[in-house]
Amino acid sequence: MKVVRLREGKERSLLRRHPWVFEGSIASGRADPGETVRVQAADGAFLAWAAYSPGSAIRLRAWSFDEAERIDAAFFERRIARALALRARLAVASDGVRVVHGEADSLPGLIVDRYADTLVAQFLSAGAERWKPVIADALCRSSGLARLYERSDASVRGLEGLAAQTGWLHGDGTTEVTIHEHDWQFTVDIAHGHKTGFYLDQRDNRLRFAEAVRHFGLRRVLNCFCYTGGFSVAALAGGAERVLSVDSSAPALARAEAHVRANGHPAARHATLDADVNATLREQIDQGASFDAIVLDPPKFAPTAGHAERAARAYKDINRLALKLLAPGGALFTFSCSGGIGIELFHKIVAGAGIDAGVDAAILHRLEEGPDHPTTLLFPEGQYLKGLALLKQ
Ligand code: SAH
Repeated sequence: MKVVRLREGKERSLLRRHPWVFEGSIASGRADPGETVRVQAADGAFLAWAAYSPGSAIRLRAWSFDEAERIDAAFFERRIARALALRARLAVASDGVRVVHGEADSLPGLIVDRYADTLVAQFLSAGAERWKPVIADALCRSSGLARLYERSDASVRGLEGLAAQTGWLHGDGTTEVTIHEHDWQFTVDIAHGHKTGFYLDQRDNRLRFAEAVRHFGLRRVLNCFCYTGGFSVAALAGGAERVLSVDSSAPALARAEAHVRANGHPAARHATLDADVNATLREQIDQGASFDAIVLDPPKFAPTAGHAERAARAYKDINRLALKLLAPGGALFTFSCSGGIGIELFHKIVAGAGIDAGVDAAILHRLEEGPDHPTTLLFPEGQYLKGLALLKQ
Protein backbone atom coordinates (compact mmCIF):
# COMPACT_ATOMS: atom_id res chain seq x y z
CA MET A 1 0.00 0.00 0.00
CA LYS A 2 1.43 3.37 -1.01
CA VAL A 3 1.64 6.09 1.60
CA VAL A 4 1.00 9.81 1.11
CA ARG A 5 2.25 12.02 3.90
CA LEU A 6 0.82 15.49 4.52
CA ARG A 7 2.65 18.65 5.50
CA GLU A 8 2.58 19.64 9.11
CA GLY A 9 -0.75 21.21 10.12
CA LYS A 10 -2.46 20.00 6.94
CA GLU A 11 -4.14 17.06 8.69
CA ARG A 12 -6.83 19.26 10.22
CA SER A 13 -9.50 18.91 7.55
CA LEU A 14 -9.19 15.09 7.37
CA LEU A 15 -9.38 14.95 11.18
CA ARG A 16 -12.74 16.75 10.83
CA ARG A 17 -13.60 14.01 8.32
CA HIS A 18 -13.78 16.41 5.39
CA PRO A 19 -12.88 14.22 2.37
CA TRP A 20 -10.61 16.49 0.26
CA VAL A 21 -6.85 17.11 0.33
CA PHE A 22 -5.46 19.73 -2.06
CA GLU A 23 -2.12 19.27 -3.83
CA GLY A 24 -0.37 21.94 -1.73
CA SER A 25 -1.00 19.97 1.47
CA ILE A 26 1.05 16.96 0.39
CA ALA A 27 4.64 16.50 1.61
CA SER A 28 5.48 13.21 -0.09
CA GLY A 29 4.10 10.17 -1.88
CA ARG A 30 2.42 9.54 -5.18
CA ALA A 31 0.37 6.83 -6.85
CA ASP A 32 -1.46 5.93 -10.06
CA PRO A 33 -4.77 7.57 -11.01
CA GLY A 34 -7.46 6.41 -8.63
CA GLU A 35 -5.17 4.11 -6.66
CA THR A 36 -6.01 3.73 -2.96
CA VAL A 37 -3.34 5.19 -0.67
CA ARG A 38 -2.81 5.39 3.07
CA VAL A 39 -2.82 9.05 4.09
CA GLN A 40 -0.67 9.97 7.08
CA ALA A 41 -0.07 13.13 9.07
CA ALA A 42 3.44 14.61 9.23
CA ASP A 43 4.03 12.61 12.43
CA GLY A 44 3.03 9.36 10.69
CA ALA A 45 -0.41 9.00 12.30
CA PHE A 46 -3.09 7.36 10.12
CA LEU A 47 -5.66 9.81 8.72
CA ALA A 48 -7.61 8.12 5.93
CA TRP A 49 -7.75 5.71 3.02
CA ALA A 50 -8.06 7.84 -0.09
CA ALA A 51 -8.06 7.78 -3.88
CA TYR A 52 -5.07 9.52 -5.46
CA SER A 53 -5.57 11.74 -8.51
CA PRO A 54 -2.21 12.83 -9.95
CA GLY A 55 -3.51 15.58 -12.25
CA SER A 56 -6.15 17.14 -10.02
CA ALA A 57 -5.91 20.10 -7.63
CA ILE A 58 -7.97 17.89 -5.29
CA ARG A 59 -5.15 15.35 -5.08
CA LEU A 60 -6.83 13.00 -2.58
CA ARG A 61 -10.45 12.10 -1.92
CA ALA A 62 -10.98 10.09 1.23
CA TRP A 63 -12.95 6.85 1.01
CA SER A 64 -12.74 6.04 4.71
CA PHE A 65 -11.42 7.43 8.00
CA ASP A 66 -11.43 4.02 9.65
CA GLU A 67 -7.98 2.41 9.68
CA ALA A 68 -9.52 -1.07 9.98
CA GLU A 69 -11.67 -0.67 6.87
CA ARG A 70 -10.48 -2.19 3.58
CA ILE A 71 -11.33 -0.42 0.32
CA ASP A 72 -12.63 -3.36 -1.70
CA ALA A 73 -15.81 -4.60 -3.38
CA ALA A 74 -17.51 -5.17 -0.01
CA PHE A 75 -16.72 -1.56 0.98
CA PHE A 76 -18.54 -0.20 -2.10
CA GLU A 77 -21.47 -2.57 -1.49
CA ARG A 78 -21.81 -1.24 2.06
CA ARG A 79 -21.65 2.42 1.04
CA ILE A 80 -24.13 1.96 -1.81
CA ALA A 81 -26.53 -0.04 0.38
CA ARG A 82 -26.39 2.76 2.96
CA ALA A 83 -27.17 5.40 0.31
CA LEU A 84 -30.12 3.36 -0.98
CA ALA A 85 -31.41 2.79 2.57
CA LEU A 86 -31.48 6.56 3.20
CA ARG A 87 -33.56 7.13 0.04
CA ALA A 88 -35.96 4.36 1.04
CA ARG A 89 -36.53 6.11 4.39
CA LEU A 90 -37.01 9.52 2.74
CA ALA A 91 -40.02 8.24 0.74
CA VAL A 92 -39.40 10.58 -2.20
CA ALA A 93 -42.56 11.49 -4.15
CA SER A 94 -41.19 10.16 -7.43
CA ASP A 95 -39.54 7.16 -9.06
CA GLY A 96 -36.89 9.61 -10.27
CA VAL A 97 -34.47 9.79 -7.33
CA ARG A 98 -30.84 10.73 -6.73
CA VAL A 99 -29.58 7.56 -5.07
CA VAL A 100 -25.89 8.47 -4.68
CA HIS A 101 -24.87 12.10 -4.15
CA GLY A 102 -21.07 11.96 -4.12
CA GLU A 103 -19.33 13.24 -1.00
CA ALA A 104 -22.65 13.45 0.91
CA ASP A 105 -22.94 9.66 0.62
CA SER A 106 -19.23 9.18 1.41
CA LEU A 107 -18.62 8.20 -2.21
CA PRO A 108 -16.62 11.15 -3.61
CA GLY A 109 -16.91 11.60 -7.36
CA LEU A 110 -19.90 9.27 -7.80
CA ILE A 111 -23.35 10.52 -8.80
CA VAL A 112 -26.18 8.06 -9.47
CA ASP A 113 -29.77 8.87 -10.39
CA ARG A 114 -32.53 6.32 -10.66
CA TYR A 115 -35.21 6.81 -13.31
CA ALA A 116 -37.87 4.13 -12.79
CA ASP A 117 -36.14 0.85 -13.79
CA THR A 118 -32.92 2.51 -14.96
CA LEU A 119 -29.84 3.81 -13.15
CA VAL A 120 -27.70 6.57 -14.65
CA ALA A 121 -24.23 7.13 -13.19
CA GLN A 122 -21.54 9.76 -13.47
CA PHE A 123 -17.98 8.75 -12.50
CA LEU A 124 -16.37 12.13 -11.92
CA SER A 125 -13.11 11.40 -10.05
CA ALA A 126 -10.08 9.20 -10.71
CA GLY A 127 -11.05 7.04 -7.72
CA ALA A 128 -14.62 6.46 -8.88
CA GLU A 129 -13.33 5.75 -12.40
CA ARG A 130 -10.87 3.12 -11.17
CA TRP A 131 -13.55 1.24 -9.24
CA LYS A 132 -16.17 1.59 -11.99
CA PRO A 133 -16.78 -2.14 -12.69
CA VAL A 134 -17.04 -2.91 -8.98
CA ILE A 135 -19.34 0.07 -8.34
CA ALA A 136 -21.50 -0.82 -11.36
CA ASP A 137 -21.98 -4.40 -10.09
CA ALA A 138 -22.75 -3.20 -6.57
CA LEU A 139 -25.29 -0.65 -7.84
CA CYS A 140 -27.23 -3.25 -9.84
CA ARG A 141 -27.08 -5.87 -7.10
CA SER A 142 -28.10 -3.53 -4.26
CA SER A 143 -30.90 -1.87 -6.21
CA GLY A 144 -32.15 -5.01 -7.92
CA LEU A 145 -32.16 -3.08 -11.22
CA ALA A 146 -30.68 -4.54 -14.41
CA ARG A 147 -30.13 -1.36 -16.43
CA LEU A 148 -27.23 1.01 -15.71
CA TYR A 149 -26.22 3.75 -18.14
CA GLU A 150 -23.04 5.80 -17.84
CA ARG A 151 -23.11 9.57 -18.39
CA SER A 152 -19.52 10.44 -17.52
CA ASP A 153 -19.50 13.41 -19.89
CA ALA A 154 -19.52 16.26 -17.35
CA SER A 155 -16.75 18.81 -17.89
CA VAL A 156 -15.33 18.30 -14.36
CA ARG A 157 -13.92 14.95 -15.60
CA GLY A 158 -11.35 17.00 -17.50
CA LEU A 159 -9.95 18.33 -14.18
CA GLU A 160 -9.24 14.71 -13.20
CA GLY A 161 -7.54 13.98 -16.53
CA LEU A 162 -10.44 11.74 -17.61
CA ALA A 163 -12.03 11.70 -21.07
CA ALA A 164 -15.82 11.63 -21.55
CA GLN A 165 -17.47 8.20 -21.55
CA THR A 166 -21.10 7.28 -22.11
CA GLY A 167 -23.06 4.10 -22.77
CA TRP A 168 -24.57 1.05 -21.12
CA LEU A 169 -22.59 -0.54 -18.27
CA HIS A 170 -25.34 -3.10 -17.56
CA GLY A 171 -28.37 -4.04 -19.64
CA ASP A 172 -29.48 -2.20 -22.76
CA GLY A 173 -32.59 -1.00 -24.60
CA THR A 174 -34.39 2.31 -24.73
CA THR A 175 -32.71 5.46 -23.43
CA GLU A 176 -36.09 7.21 -22.98
CA VAL A 177 -37.47 6.50 -19.53
CA THR A 178 -40.73 7.80 -18.10
CA ILE A 179 -40.83 8.82 -14.44
CA HIS A 180 -43.75 9.79 -12.22
CA GLU A 181 -43.08 12.84 -10.05
CA HIS A 182 -45.93 13.90 -7.73
CA ASP A 183 -49.02 13.41 -9.95
CA TRP A 184 -47.10 14.18 -13.13
CA GLN A 185 -45.10 12.25 -15.67
CA PHE A 186 -41.91 13.17 -17.50
CA THR A 187 -39.95 11.26 -20.12
CA VAL A 188 -36.21 11.51 -19.56
CA ASP A 189 -33.64 11.22 -22.35
CA ILE A 190 -30.85 9.57 -20.38
CA ALA A 191 -28.46 9.51 -23.36
CA HIS A 192 -28.69 13.16 -24.44
CA GLY A 193 -30.45 15.11 -21.67
CA HIS A 194 -28.60 17.53 -19.41
CA LYS A 195 -26.62 16.01 -16.52
CA THR A 196 -28.09 12.49 -16.18
CA GLY A 197 -31.22 13.60 -18.04
CA PHE A 198 -33.44 15.52 -15.61
CA TYR A 199 -33.26 18.15 -12.86
CA LEU A 200 -34.37 15.95 -9.99
CA ASP A 201 -33.08 18.54 -7.51
CA GLN A 202 -36.05 20.83 -8.30
CA ARG A 203 -38.75 18.19 -7.57
CA ASP A 204 -40.04 19.71 -4.32
CA ASN A 205 -39.80 23.25 -5.69
CA ARG A 206 -41.94 22.32 -8.69
CA LEU A 207 -44.63 21.16 -6.24
CA ARG A 208 -44.29 24.37 -4.22
CA PHE A 209 -44.72 26.32 -7.43
CA ALA A 210 -47.88 24.40 -8.40
CA GLU A 211 -49.26 25.09 -4.90
CA ALA A 212 -48.49 28.82 -5.14
CA VAL A 213 -50.13 29.06 -8.57
CA ARG A 214 -53.25 27.41 -7.17
CA HIS A 215 -53.32 29.21 -3.82
CA PHE A 216 -52.84 32.71 -5.23
CA GLY A 217 -54.87 32.06 -8.39
CA LEU A 218 -51.96 32.98 -10.68
CA ARG A 219 -53.04 32.86 -14.32
CA ARG A 220 -50.29 34.01 -16.67
CA VAL A 221 -46.98 32.19 -16.13
CA LEU A 222 -43.51 32.72 -17.60
CA ASN A 223 -41.11 29.78 -17.14
CA CYS A 224 -37.57 30.98 -17.91
CA PHE A 225 -34.79 28.41 -18.52
CA CYS A 226 -37.60 25.84 -18.70
CA TYR A 227 -35.53 22.87 -19.98
CA THR A 228 -38.14 20.09 -20.53
CA GLY A 229 -40.94 22.08 -18.90
CA GLY A 230 -41.05 20.74 -15.35
CA PHE A 231 -42.24 24.04 -13.87
CA SER A 232 -44.59 24.53 -16.85
CA VAL A 233 -46.39 21.26 -16.11
CA ALA A 234 -46.49 22.27 -12.44
CA ALA A 235 -48.06 25.64 -13.35
CA LEU A 236 -50.74 24.01 -15.50
CA ALA A 237 -51.44 21.47 -12.75
CA GLY A 238 -51.91 24.43 -10.40
CA GLY A 239 -54.55 25.89 -12.70
CA ALA A 240 -52.56 28.41 -14.77
CA GLU A 241 -54.43 29.59 -17.85
CA ARG A 242 -51.43 30.34 -20.02
CA VAL A 243 -47.78 29.35 -19.73
CA LEU A 244 -44.87 30.62 -21.82
CA SER A 245 -41.79 28.36 -21.64
CA VAL A 246 -38.46 29.90 -22.66
CA ASP A 247 -35.19 28.07 -23.31
CA SER A 248 -32.32 28.22 -25.80
CA SER A 249 -32.44 24.46 -26.43
CA ALA A 250 -34.84 23.35 -29.18
CA PRO A 251 -34.84 19.64 -28.16
CA ALA A 252 -35.68 20.63 -24.56
CA LEU A 253 -38.59 22.77 -25.78
CA ALA A 254 -39.92 19.91 -27.93
CA ARG A 255 -39.95 17.75 -24.81
CA ALA A 256 -41.65 20.50 -22.81
CA GLU A 257 -44.47 20.49 -25.36
CA ALA A 258 -44.71 16.70 -25.22
CA HIS A 259 -44.81 16.87 -21.39
CA VAL A 260 -47.71 19.34 -21.45
CA ARG A 261 -49.66 16.94 -23.70
CA ALA A 262 -48.69 13.81 -21.76
CA ASN A 263 -49.98 15.41 -18.56
CA GLY A 264 -53.37 16.08 -20.11
CA HIS A 265 -53.22 19.84 -20.57
CA PRO A 266 -54.57 21.55 -23.70
CA ALA A 267 -51.76 22.57 -26.05
CA ALA A 268 -53.46 25.97 -26.40
CA ARG A 269 -52.52 26.83 -22.81
CA HIS A 270 -48.82 26.47 -23.49
CA ALA A 271 -46.38 28.23 -25.81
CA THR A 272 -42.63 27.82 -26.22
CA LEU A 273 -39.99 30.33 -27.20
CA ASP A 274 -36.52 29.30 -28.39
CA ALA A 275 -34.63 32.38 -27.26
CA ASP A 276 -32.19 33.93 -24.83
CA VAL A 277 -33.92 34.66 -21.52
CA ASN A 278 -32.33 38.04 -20.88
CA ALA A 279 -33.35 39.31 -24.34
CA THR A 280 -36.84 37.81 -23.92
CA LEU A 281 -37.40 39.57 -20.58
CA ARG A 282 -36.41 42.91 -22.15
CA GLU A 283 -38.66 42.34 -25.16
CA GLN A 284 -41.62 41.41 -22.98
CA ILE A 285 -41.15 44.57 -20.91
CA ASP A 286 -40.90 46.67 -24.10
CA GLN A 287 -44.13 45.11 -25.36
CA GLY A 288 -45.88 46.03 -22.12
CA ALA A 289 -46.46 42.38 -21.17
CA SER A 290 -47.08 41.27 -17.61
CA PHE A 291 -47.12 37.90 -15.81
CA ASP A 292 -48.65 36.66 -12.55
CA ALA A 293 -45.87 34.12 -11.93
CA ILE A 294 -42.30 33.85 -13.18
CA VAL A 295 -39.71 31.09 -12.72
CA LEU A 296 -36.00 31.90 -13.12
CA ASP A 297 -33.91 28.73 -13.02
CA PRO A 298 -30.73 29.60 -14.92
CA PRO A 299 -27.73 27.34 -15.50
CA LYS A 300 -24.68 27.67 -13.26
CA PHE A 301 -23.43 31.22 -13.91
CA ALA A 302 -20.63 30.76 -11.33
CA PRO A 303 -19.16 27.24 -11.19
CA THR A 304 -16.58 28.48 -8.63
CA ALA A 305 -16.20 31.47 -6.31
CA GLY A 306 -13.76 32.96 -8.86
CA HIS A 307 -16.65 33.63 -11.24
CA ALA A 308 -18.88 35.10 -8.54
CA GLU A 309 -18.62 38.78 -9.44
CA ARG A 310 -19.60 38.50 -13.09
CA ALA A 311 -22.24 35.91 -12.23
CA ALA A 312 -23.70 38.21 -9.58
CA ARG A 313 -24.29 40.88 -12.23
CA ALA A 314 -25.99 38.34 -14.52
CA TYR A 315 -28.27 37.09 -11.70
CA LYS A 316 -29.14 40.62 -10.65
CA ASP A 317 -29.99 41.62 -14.20
CA ILE A 318 -32.50 38.81 -14.86
CA ASN A 319 -34.06 39.19 -11.40
CA ARG A 320 -34.49 42.95 -11.87
CA LEU A 321 -36.16 42.38 -15.25
CA ALA A 322 -38.40 39.61 -13.89
CA LEU A 323 -39.49 41.73 -10.89
CA LYS A 324 -40.46 44.50 -13.33
CA LEU A 325 -42.39 42.13 -15.56
CA LEU A 326 -44.26 40.61 -12.63
CA ALA A 327 -47.76 41.94 -11.91
CA PRO A 328 -48.37 43.30 -8.39
CA GLY A 329 -49.34 40.35 -6.16
CA GLY A 330 -47.49 37.96 -8.48
CA ALA A 331 -44.96 35.27 -7.50
CA LEU A 332 -41.32 34.97 -8.51
CA PHE A 333 -39.53 31.65 -7.97
CA THR A 334 -35.87 32.51 -8.48
CA PHE A 335 -32.90 30.13 -8.21
CA SER A 336 -29.14 29.82 -8.37
CA CYS A 337 -27.40 26.45 -8.66
CA SER A 338 -23.93 28.04 -8.60
CA GLY A 339 -21.60 26.53 -6.01
CA GLY A 340 -19.66 29.82 -6.14
CA ILE A 341 -22.64 31.90 -4.90
CA GLY A 342 -23.64 31.29 -1.30
CA ILE A 343 -27.13 31.73 0.14
CA GLU A 344 -26.39 35.09 1.72
CA LEU A 345 -24.89 36.49 -1.46
CA PHE A 346 -27.83 35.20 -3.50
CA HIS A 347 -30.29 36.91 -1.16
CA LYS A 348 -28.28 40.15 -1.45
CA ILE A 349 -28.29 39.93 -5.25
CA VAL A 350 -32.07 39.47 -5.39
CA ALA A 351 -32.55 42.26 -2.85
CA GLY A 352 -30.40 44.52 -5.05
CA ALA A 353 -32.53 43.57 -8.04
CA GLY A 354 -35.64 44.58 -6.07
CA ILE A 355 -34.12 47.95 -5.19
CA ASP A 356 -33.18 48.62 -8.82
CA ALA A 357 -36.63 47.54 -10.01
CA GLY A 358 -38.25 49.73 -7.36
CA VAL A 359 -40.28 46.87 -5.87
CA ASP A 360 -40.47 45.02 -2.58
CA ALA A 361 -41.58 41.44 -2.12
CA ALA A 362 -42.41 39.09 0.74
CA ILE A 363 -40.34 35.91 1.03
CA LEU A 364 -42.78 32.97 0.93
CA HIS A 365 -40.19 30.20 1.02
CA ARG A 366 -36.44 29.74 1.09
CA LEU A 367 -35.79 26.83 -1.24
CA GLU A 368 -33.06 24.26 -1.80
CA GLU A 369 -32.45 20.88 -3.43
CA GLY A 370 -34.58 17.93 -2.32
CA PRO A 371 -33.48 15.64 0.53
CA ASP A 372 -32.31 12.91 -1.87
CA HIS A 373 -29.49 15.41 -2.63
CA PRO A 374 -28.49 15.60 1.04
CA THR A 375 -26.22 18.19 2.55
CA THR A 376 -24.21 16.69 5.39
CA LEU A 377 -22.70 18.17 8.52
CA LEU A 378 -19.22 17.15 7.39
CA PHE A 379 -19.51 18.45 3.82
CA PRO A 380 -21.60 21.64 3.93
CA GLU A 381 -20.22 22.93 0.62
CA GLY A 382 -22.23 20.21 -1.08
CA GLN A 383 -25.24 22.53 -0.73
CA TYR A 384 -25.55 24.25 -4.12
CA LEU A 385 -29.17 25.01 -5.04
CA LYS A 386 -30.75 28.03 -3.42
CA GLY A 387 -33.98 29.71 -4.26
CA LEU A 388 -36.45 32.31 -3.08
CA ALA A 389 -40.20 32.18 -3.57
CA LEU A 390 -41.27 35.82 -3.53
CA LEU A 391 -44.65 37.51 -3.54
CA LYS A 392 -44.48 40.98 -5.11
CA GLN A 393 -46.13 43.71 -3.09
N1 SAH B 1 -36.08 24.48 -14.55
C1 SAH B 1 -35.63 23.34 -15.32
C2 SAH B 1 -34.12 23.21 -15.34
C3 SAH B 1 -33.37 24.40 -15.92
S1 SAH B 1 -31.73 24.04 -16.41
C4 SAH B 1 -36.34 22.09 -14.80
O1 SAH B 1 -37.07 22.16 -13.81
O2 SAH B 1 -36.17 21.03 -15.42
C5 SAH B 1 -31.24 25.48 -17.24
C6 SAH B 1 -31.76 25.62 -18.68
O3 SAH B 1 -31.34 26.90 -19.15
C7 SAH B 1 -31.25 24.62 -19.71
O4 SAH B 1 -32.34 23.95 -20.27
C8 SAH B 1 -30.53 25.47 -20.78
O5 SAH B 1 -30.79 25.00 -22.11
C9 SAH B 1 -31.15 26.82 -20.58
N2 SAH B 1 -30.36 27.99 -20.93
C10 SAH B 1 -29.05 28.24 -20.68
N3 SAH B 1 -28.71 29.48 -21.05
C11 SAH B 1 -29.83 30.07 -21.55
C12 SAH B 1 -30.13 31.36 -22.07
N4 SAH B 1 -29.21 32.32 -22.13
N5 SAH B 1 -31.39 31.61 -22.48
C13 SAH B 1 -32.34 30.63 -22.41
N6 SAH B 1 -32.12 29.41 -21.91
C14 SAH B 1 -30.88 29.12 -21.49
